[in-house]
Amino acid sequence: MKVSYSSDEERFREEVRKWFEENTPPDVKDQTLGGSTLEHDLMFKWHKTLYEKGWISPEFPKEMGGAGFSETEQFIFNYEYSHCGAPRLKTKLVSLGMLAPLLLQHGTKEQQDRFIPDMLSGKTIWCQGFSEPNAGSDLASLNLKAVPEGNYFVLNGQKTWTSMADHADWIFLLVRTDSSGKKQEGISFLLADLKTPGITIRPIEALTDHAPFCEVFFDDVRVPRENLVGKMGEGWKLAGALLQHERLNAFPVGELIYAIETVRKNSEKTIYRGKPLMQDPVFRRKLAALEVDCNSLLYTFFRILSQLKVGSAPGPEASFLKVYGSELYRRVMDLNIEAVGPYGQSWYNLEEFDNSIHQATMGWINSASLTIWGGSSEIQRTVIATQVLKLPRK
Ligand SMILES: Cc1cc2nc3c(=O)[nH]c(=O)nc-3n(C[C@H](O)[C@H](O)[C@H](O)COP(=O)(O)OP(=O)(O)OC[C@H]3O[C@@H](n4cnc5c(N)ncnc54)[C@H](O)[C@@H]3O)c2cc1C
Repeated sequence: MKVSYSSDEERFREEVRKWFEENTPPDVKDQTLGGSTLEHDLMFKWHKTLYEKGWISPEFPKEMGGAGFSETEQFIFNYEYSHCGAPRLKTKLVSLGMLAPLLLQHGTKEQQDRFIPDMLSGKTIWCQGFSEPNAGSDLASLNLKAVPEGNYFVLNGQKTWTSMADHADWIFLLVRTDSSGKKQEGISFLLADLKTPGITIRPIEALTDHAPFCEVFFDDVRVPRENLVGKMGEGWKLAGALLQHERLNAFPVGELIYAIETVRKNSEKTIYRGKPLMQDPVFRRKLAALEVDCNSLLYTFFRILSQLKVGSAPGPEASFLKVYGSELYRRVMDLNIEAVGPYGQSWYNLEEFDNSIHQATMGWINSASLTIWGGSSEIQRTVIATQVLKLPRK
């Protein structure tokens, strides 16, 4: 097994790193630790810059406007992207990260031509409507009804925790088209324009004084039949396929390494018992332990890449990337709060504080959600135990 880059890959890595170093605007950098604080105008501008470079979607085929990178190149690209301090782009996370690959596999040609180009250019922003008040971990219990009526489905019900719904143009939905059989069987996958009459979006206020997600209500909403993806009742299968696209990018390891470097920098500035905190042996031991864990995660990625290169499927290690990465990120954010000392209590970005201090507080708060969205750690562990390791349920 080879766990280092080939010379071509190393050249590619240098090229990508150099481009990001030279082209990432200072106001876009350093937003990563705060999670979702990037202003929308800035986000759209940065999206456009990447689009014009041809790098908005590393995994997407070149002929469709993506970068068409190999899996190793995608990993290198994503690593260098977050390692330079560039934030996750909410304008593309859901559309290009999830829906576009699904449409390529299961959508009609009309759906692909109609929706994908606008996702790439950033003209259309999408959000994901899976969760409902009583259907989160137990997603198949969802209850948003879609009744076929002529050329339309008529929707009634509610979604919740819908990230970006208040800024999005379209939503992809899991809806209930049949309640008679097993709960997984009567689900369908629909695409809906958020401007359709009968849709109400209500932002949910969060601790970080902005609304990262919303409640979305549907009251006799008419969605054209042509917006059905796959066949009626196939929604559960499609939802599974959609989640598989997260495979290698389940957790951006470059972001973790960047976060560790930030902890180090902050601890050099904070004075503890007359010396920089970085010189305190107890603190140093904690930082070293996290660095070792981050490197273990990085090498796990390398092991998966080696397997993919020789044509074999990733082993069980691919399944725990999300659990391990998100829990490790929370631990790094805990230490970052320690690294900024009493300033970690700063709630607002006061002028007298360095931005990295504000980022420490917001990053720490936002990190709590990482082990919940996309499937909570408890549920992921059950999936790993039963489906990957084939352990008995009890
Ligand atoms: C920041 C953020 C953004 C999100 N964005 C979106 C979005 O854009 N679109 C969308 O559709 N959803 C979104 N979600 C929702 C997310 O997918 C759900 O929160 C998640 O699936 C958990 O569901 P729940 O909140 O209903 O919790 P519940 O399912 O009620 O779980 C509560 C707790 O009980 C545990 N639990 C539940 N069942 C079991 C079990 N069988 N065994 C062991 N433990 C169990 C869970 O792990 C969790 O700790 C977002 C969530 C967050 C935090």
